[in-house]
Amino acid sequence: MQKRISILGATGSIGRNTLDIVAAFPERFKIVAMSAAQDSAGLAELALQFHPELVAIADTKKAEDLEARLHGSSIKIVAGAEAAIEAARVEADFTMAAIVGFAGLAPTLEAVKSGRAIGLANKECLVAAGDLFMATARHNDARILPVDSEHNAAFQLLSDIPSAAVKTLTLTASGGPFRTMSLQDLQSVSTAQAIKHPIWSMGQKISVDSATLMNKGLELIEAHHLFSIAPHQLDVIVHPQSVVHAMLSLTDGSVLSHQAPPDMRGPIAFCMGWPERLAPDMPKLDFAEVGKLEFFQPDRDKFKCLALAEAAMQAGQMAPTILNAANEVAVAAFLAQSIGFLQIAETVAASLDYWAGKAEFSAAPSTLEEIIALDASFRSHTSDILAKKA
Ligand code: NAD
Ligand code: MG
Repeated sequence: MQKRISILGATGSIGRNTLDIVAAFPERFKIVAMSAAQDSAGLAELALQFHPELVAIADTKKAEDLEARLHGSSIKIVAGAEAAIEAARVEADFTMAAIVGFAGLAPTLEAVKSGRAIGLANKECLVAAGDLFMATARHNDARILPVDSEHNAAFQLLSDIPSAAVKTLTLTASGGPFRTMSLQDLQSVSTAQAIKHPIWSMGQKISVDSATLMNKGLELIEAHHLFSIAPHQLDVIVHPQSVVHAMLSLTDGSVLSHQAPPDMRGPIAFCMGWPERLAPDMPKLDFAEVGKLEFFQPDRDKFKCLALAEAAMQAGQMAPTILNAANEVAVAAFLAQSIGFLQIAETVAASLDYWAGKAEFSAAPSTLEEIIALDASFRSHTSDILAKKA
């Protein structure tokens, strides 16, 4: 039976890799819905190739262009802030949640509510609203399959291990483009340098997060929610070759690790095929060619975002939501070249400090609307911090 697939964030790096897998297995997969933020040309091209029932574009100004490009096709077009939610409502067996940032939360939750399997790439959903997200998945019996390579590795490692036997889950980090740079030099790195990742080719936001190591911090919080593992049992190790993706230390002293080529099509194909294994055209992992595998402790003084995320995970309550909102605003400012690289961590720290002890910090939102309102306050305060500094 062909699986009906929808992709939230089809024009991005994960979205396009997902479409590569669909194109490689046309007898197994059929695209039924695709969404994008504003790239009408990119979305139209993909739509004409994959013939979904519906395409959704968030930017209403791009709707006319999309309509013109899809004129004569029978593809339904929806536009506006709720468009991705409509795409999530199209009946499907599997949704790839690949919108970047908090913007992906509402559409992904809509897909979760249908009880279908979700390939979860959007980690910000879990960081900002992990309890609500996982509770909604449990309530609707939706299977969450982690796309993030470390979590996909952990999912595979954990599949036949009783949770009582797990001592620690360690996520590997490539260390990003600035791994060996001094703190002094980090002051003047450019946006172009930050988005040029040594191993992975990804969207701009996650590339900056990888450069600050915030990405690994977000991933710890993601793992905490996905696998119900306590913060003190989660750890990070820098591994520049990005061949080992996760390691599971067990109570009997064994350490299980997962290796795969650093290519997102692997985890994506795993999630799309699950519970079956597909045979995508992947590069062979040749250990003799890799030669050596190195491991280092992360430098939390240089990469303060990692320490901030770890502290937020331990503090719980709204700290991860604040961290995520402040980081999204700060990274956007860095990408717009209005703040420097090290100011990203400074801004996130200032935001967490500001909210500590306030009623919003201990709010216990139980609905999506409450989380959206809190996120909006955290963002607007972060923008104020940046405006004062400018
Ligand atoms: P990207 O920037 O390449 O693509 C983002 C997609 O989301 C695009 O299709 C864009 O049109 C859409 N989008 C952005 N803002 C939107 C909005 N406000 N409303 C609706 N759609 C919107 O990002 P990416 O690298 O593909 O990453 C997507 C998610 O997957 C991120 O959360 C990232 O952390 C996660 N992830 C990515 C990778 C990777 O290798 N790229 C690996 C692991 C996890
Ligand atoms: Mg990752």
